Amino acid sequence: VTRTHPIRTAVIIAVGSELLTPTKIDTNSLFVTERLNVLGISVRAKVVVGDSRDDLQTLLMEALGRVDLVVLTGGLGPTDDDVTRDAVAAALGRTLHEDEALVERMQQRFARRGLEMPAINTRQALVPSGADIIPNANGTAPGLWLEHDHRVIVLLPGPPRELKPMVEGELSERLAARVSGERLSTGVVRVTARTESHAEEAARPLYAHWRDQGWPIEATTLASPGSIDFHVTVRAADEETGARLLDEARGQLRDVFGEDAYSDDGRSLEQVVGSLLGAGGYTVAAAESCTGGLLMSRLTDVAGSSAYVASGIVAYSNEAKTALLGVPPALIAAHGAVSEPVAAAMASGVRAAAGTEVGIGLTGIAGPSGGTPEKPVGTVAIAVDGPWGVEVRTRVFTGDRAMIKFFSTQAALDDLRRALLRHGAR
Ligand code: ATP
Repeated sequence: VTRTHPIRTAVIIAVGSELLTPTKIDTNSLFVTERLNVLGISVRAKVVVGDSRDDLQTLLMEALGRVDLVVLTGGLGPTDDDVTRDAVAAALGRTLHEDEALVERMQQRFARRGLEMPAINTRQALVPSGADIIPNANGTAPGLWLEHDHRVIVLLPGPPRELKPMVEGELSERLAARVSGERLSTGVVRVTARTESHAEEAARPLYAHWRDQGWPIEATTLASPGSIDFHVTVRAADEETGARLLDEARGQLRDVFGEDAYSDDGRSLEQVVGSLLGAGGYTVAAAESCTGGLLMSRLTDVAGSSAYVASGIVAYSNEAKTALLGVPPALIAAHGAVSEPVAAAMASGVRAAAGTEVGIGLTGIAGPSGGTPEKPVGTVAIAVDGPWGVEVRTRVFTGDRAMIKFFSTQAALDDLRRALLRHGAR
């Protein structure tokens, strides 16, 4: 018995000229990546290639020089432009032979629908010598498993509904028997109120430490509007070790970022805020001007938010701020609609109107017009009013109208979160 080399790394090659058009996207590789990761196999690269034998052969050879497993999807159809089978056989120096059992099975599939199998379909019964067949319960093209110089090459049909059950079933079983037993564990710590470069700078000392430990932790940052996400991945001997190392890494990131780290379990900011409101038994209402209801929309994106969200008022005009929230016209005249006193009056106004314990007031200039030298576009005042008193802050965001609206809601949720952390325990 030859000792087989454990499978740790993979390349995915998605085949199909339609995947190179501007309208069609390769989703198979996302699904395959997820399943491979569960088995502890890291995907080193993925490629989309058109229906070209030469290109496919070159990419396959290149991949075989680098990784333990190559998964190819698509291009197993019956027509001439389906080249995967031929290209793989040629690249590995295998001959193709017709598999009688497959031909019969395909004929039966057609017969069940009262059809005769077209002659070209026999192409799909061509199997490279030495290949194992991975049955396809939902289509005609079978999957193929080949071994070559301690590498494994897997061919799967393109249609997701055919590929998915094959990956979840037989392919996962076959791979599970060939992996090292090591597991990949991943986690994410989300940080707000920092720029990407500041966050990166703060986290960098951890990286060197993580790189040098027995099971190294890899970190990548993903910046999205209003949030910097630190994704940490570790390959470890088993799931428990992986979970423990990830816990440590998450704890270290939390130590670095303190209160700015708002989530370490995949929850969004609105979910975290929801949990804090729920835990303290608080109810909340929001008065919004420039965000036009986006804050309420995000608060209510969370399933179960009816437990703590009472109502929201969009008071866009000055008159509405007075009529609906009781903001005195004199206050608006003295400070302007976008000001801390008005934001505070909106927060206490909505709190009183809704009868909630917490009220949020948000007023700003989303642009592109309406800015002044003292209050440029992007100026946003946010107030959080609660049993602990009112807190109000002004920020100046940059970006287009949609971004300023989003940043404003992010800041409001974050202000609420911090207020609850500091004062909300009971
Ligand atoms: P068939 O036997 O159905 O011809 P095939 O293996 O030849 O299967 P393709 O012809 O390449 O597969 O693709 C069939 C369909 O599957 C395409 O129309 C496309 O919608 C879908 N598909 C193919 N590859 C992918 C991919 N990587 N991600 C998502 N969908 C895909």
